Amino acid sequence: MTDHKKPTHIMGVSLLHKCNFNCEHCGYIYIGDAEDHVIHPGYRLTWNQIMTAISECTSLKNSYWNLNYTGGEPTLWEEDGKDLVDILIATANAGALPTYNTNGSYFYDYDRTYGFFHKYIENADTPLKTFISMDKFHKNYDQETGRAKSLDNILKVLETFPNDKRGLLPTHVVIIVTKDPDSSLPEEMKQYYGSMGITFGDFPMLDIGKAKNLREQLPEFSGYPPMPVKEGSGPPVLVLVGDDYYVGNTRTGKLGRMLDLYSDAI
Ligand code: SF4
Repeated sequence: MTDHKKPTHIMGVSLLHKCNFNCEHCGYIYIGDAEDHVIHPGYRLTWNQIMTAISECTSLKNSYWNLNYTGGEPTLWEEDGKDLVDILIATANAGALPTYNTNGSYFYDYDRTYGFFHKYIENADTPLKTFISMDKFHKNYDQETGRAKSLDNILKVLETFPNDKRGLLPTHVVIIVTKDPDSSLPEEMKQYYGSMGITFGDFPMLDIGKAKNLREQLPEFSGYPPMPVKEGSGPPVLVLVGDDYYVGNTRTGKLGRMLDLYSDAI
């Protein structure tokens, strides 16, 4: 089995603009064009663009990359019969650590959930962390019972794996919180799923995208935690949108020319 080493670099990969939800706090999906954001309706990365990014990351010396796939909703990405799980497998087999952020709707169906995780485990031996966004804006859990179909199906599928494989498939729930102290998920829900290995973490709502209309609800701290920058090692966190690499909101490089950003690490 591949060792579970920690990544030295992270890349967020925006796969597509499309989403099957319409959350009022969404930072990424806009109605019409958004002049302050680079991801517009119709945007979609191709398989070839994704493979180029993976190969650039894995050819950087002394690095171990975490490629985190986002959307929109990344489980809606497809091309010529390939879908997200093929991207995750290709990432793992190229020698990077795949993760993804989803709204969990793909996992409402047990058979699909089974197929997704079994295909991954049959083809890769690298851990695959699933981040599910779940909060009062996403409306993807039952607020009365504190149960979520996606988490129930994932847990049920995990039971079909032997222990060592199960350990490769952690799930973390990302909760977008506002200034309302009760805006996190119910404690009982966290304890129930937490007892079966699912982890939870609050994340402050950001002042981006549609959330700008909810400014009165922004928590006091609203921003990404600062990232450590090591002298001479190039940017530790990149975002790929189309043919461009970004650091924060600044376009810093071109797909296919990533090594320009890490000239001392070639
Ligand atoms: S917040 Fe996530 S799930 Fe909701 S509309 Fe935006 S991309 Fe879709």
